Amino acid sequence: MISVEEALAEILSHVRPLESERVPILEALGRVLAEEIVADADIPPFDNSAMDGYAVRAADVAAATPDSPVRLAVIGHVAAGHVARERVMPGTAIRIMTGAPLPEGADAVVPIEDTDDGDRSGRGQPELPGRVVEVRQAVSVGDHLRPAGEAVRRGERVLEPGQVIRPQEIGLLASLGHETVAVHRRPRVAILATGDELLAVHEPPAPGKIRSSNEYTHAALVMRTGGIPLRLGIARDHVADLTARLRTGLEVGADLFLTSGGVSVGDYDLVKKVLGAEGQMQFWQVNMKPGRPLAFGLLAGVPLIGLPGNPTSAMVSFEQFARPAILKMLGHTRLDRPTVRAILDEPIRSRGQRGYVWVVVARREGRYHARRAGGQGSGVLTSMVRANGLAVVPEGTCWLEAGSQVTVQMLDWPEGVESDL
Ligand code: AMP
Ligand code: MG
Repeated sequence: MISVEEALAEILSHVRPLESERVPILEALGRVLAEEIVADADIPPFDNSAMDGYAVRAADVAAATPDSPVRLAVIGHVAAGHVARERVMPGTAIRIMTGAPLPEGADAVVPIEDTDDGDRSGRGQPELPGRVVEVRQAVSVGDHLRPAGEAVRRGERVLEPGQVIRPQEIGLLASLGHETVAVHRRPRVAILATGDELLAVHEPPAPGKIRSSNEYTHAALVMRTGGIPLRLGIARDHVADLTARLRTGLEVGADLFLTSGGVSVGDYDLVKKVLGAEGQMQFWQVNMKPGRPLAFGLLAGVPLIGLPGNPTSAMVSFEQFARPAILKMLGHTRLDRPTVRAILDEPIRSRGQRGYVWVVVARREGRYHARRAGGQGSGVLTSMVRANGLAVVPEGTCWLEAGSQVTVQMLDWPEGVESDL
């Protein structure tokens, strides 16, 4: 039986980053850039003031001190978004606000606190003309200025293909005038539940029937990973129904199939059979618990991951195999969850296969601690709900002592956990 790593490598070998599409920059949040961005202008585009104060010629105030201030005639003022009409000549200054372009003739800004204006704050400014400002501190050429191109130079390569777009990248794109950006397309992930026992959420309970939860868990997992779920409903345990629904998935342009159930050794486990008849089976069964019955194959070239039916097994398998595949399609290169090493607060028994245990990780006295999130029997939805991580038990291990260390894949970052990383 193949290992988790072998199964993942096989799946990923059939998955490529999808082609790019242009989207409005806000829709690029969390997605992966598929083009290089070269600045076609300086940011900021012009020299501007970093402070509220006075635009001056540094040479005029070179001797200014609190005890012997220099007096300059105030010949105008300029706010952000406006351009001064006047030119700063020897012996003059222009009142300037943060972000306003530096007037011609000036080469530095004196902050308001270093003038007599600072004393008057809130009491209004005397009217021009005839106003004089007392400068109490010398400045050097370039002081309190943001020169053109300080943040970004025209011609500079500012973003590389493969970068994940965060809010700050969106801001950078906006400041360079990009309304749209090329990112990898989101994969369309067809989700199909299988089983004669399954009821739709709105249906009343009936003998022998259970509600199909996997469709919802898997659609939500796909959405959270960045894919677009296409819901194919519930296939009954008949070859014809399963085949028809998978063909529908191809017709609606699925990039990946996720089925649940029908991959164990029961009499009605038809996913393998249909995959074999309609496409190619690549492998079946992985040496892990839970999640051993995993099928992988290709349907008209489209990868199909046959997840187990048990809700907890299916989510563990989604995390190990489907999430990395979706991330790769999205253009991501980091495909694994962040992990922490945590101290086990209670022992964990395993069966010698690779094990995954739903745990709650908390930080105490500077160290991560993990305890089981509840019963681990397949189908225990509430343990998944309580858990924030999956502890990974290595192959060949049957018993992990309380107090020993374990690697935990973090699924969520609750308060107090993330802040320490
Ligand atoms: P199977 O692999 O088809 O034998 O399914 C294994 C277990 O998972 C059975 O107890 C099924 O009833 C359950 N199961 C299968 N599909 C779903 C689903 N969509 N939602 C909830 N449970 C399911
Ligand atoms: Mg079934």
